[in-house]
Amino acid sequence: MTEHTHHTESDQFQAPIAGAPSFFGSRTEVGHVREHNEDSLAVLPPLFAVADGMGGHEAGEVASELAINTLTDLAPRTADADGLARAVEAANLSVIKAPRQGIGREGMGTTLTAAILENERLVIAQVGDSRAYLLHQGVLQQITRDHSLMADMIEAGQLTEEEARIHPNRSVITRAIGSDPHMQPDIYELNVETGDRLLLCSDGICTMIEDPTIENIMRQAPTPQQCADDLVEAALNAGGFDNATAVVVDVEGFKTAREKKQERKSKRLAIGVVICVILIFAAAIFAAFQYVSNSAYLAEQDGKVAVYRGIDEELLGISLSSMDRVTNVEVDKLNPGVANRIKDGMAVGSIDEANSLISEYEEEIARQNATSTTTGTEGTASATPSSTNTTNANKAESGE
Ligand code: CA
Repeated sequence: MTEHTHHTESDQFQAPIAGAPSFFGSRTEVGHVREHNEDSLAVLPPLFAVADGMGGHEAGEVASELAINTLTDLAPRTADADGLARAVEAANLSVIKAPRQGIGREGMGTTLTAAILENERLVIAQVGDSRAYLLHQGVLQQITRDHSLMADMIEAGQLTEEEARIHPNRSVITRAIGSDPHMQPDIYELNVETGDRLLLCSDGICTMIEDPTIENIMRQAPTPQQCADDLVEAALNAGGFDNATAVVVDVEGFKTAREKKQERKSKRLAIGVVICVILIFAAAIFAAFQYVSNSAYLAEQDGKVAVYRGIDEELLGISLSSMDRVTNVEVDKLNPGVANRIKDGMAVGSIDEANSLISEYEEEIARQNATSTTTGTEGTASATPSSTNTTNANKAESGE
């Protein structure tokens, strides 16, 4: 298959690299033991995929690359599960037919784990033992179930995860692209959340390093590219017995530049609204404070008229007034209408207004006293009240 011997990383399907840090990253390495890298990958948002070829004599490379080619040609651009399944089935047929056209060789095959991530909707098609993992709120979960003898035996309780790692049949897979024309992929559909991190990897990652290590790396790597690099490095450091491929996608990255701009705009608008509300509230409090502190009222205090600053109310148990002074004006000396209003607390516009009212009352009482004194001399019947009035008038005057 000479036309495929130049297969290198540059043959992988990669979206153009923009200046800003990307929401996805990928890395594939041949490892320390294998001569060829039979893994292939696709990172063409919203499509991401990993394929792990098998077949020997470079046929694995042909199979995985062919499957990825067909998938990227036919996969839908939305999270359409049926469309993705059809694309995977077409990839299967293309790998089956290829040897008859002189491409690859009979018996070649590949795994295929393909994901479409549209906003927060994730659809995965699974064939073989490559895996999809999701890191959600810092916790790693394996999304896909392996189509492998080991997975079946573990499920049947015949084997533990640890035993499976060193089992001689650990690489036997029970479903693959390239053998059965009626093969159907398993389909997983799930809602993910912004902040989640998706990993697609070949078994050269997840058989070399264990899930807790994968989880740690996925939690700690600052970017998806760093995460892919760290996962592959860890697999190589653990021995690198197999080709190691990782595709990492951050869910938050799926907002378009336009959506992000819109989001920033909405955020600024929301902050503006909050500031406006705070300002209006502060202005209202200030106005209320001004109103209260400029207000005044008259009330009775031990039979005398007292001048209060503020209003005769309470707010949250706090009195909104303070006594300014108690005058010498006796409430009962005022005309009954005014006296009653003062007993109930009589609001006046301001302290000045209160002061001028008090002066009026004093003058009024002084006039009353003068009149009663005059009339008092004319008849004995009113003598007693007259003398009282005189005393009070004197008191009022001495108080001035
Ligand atoms: Ca492999």
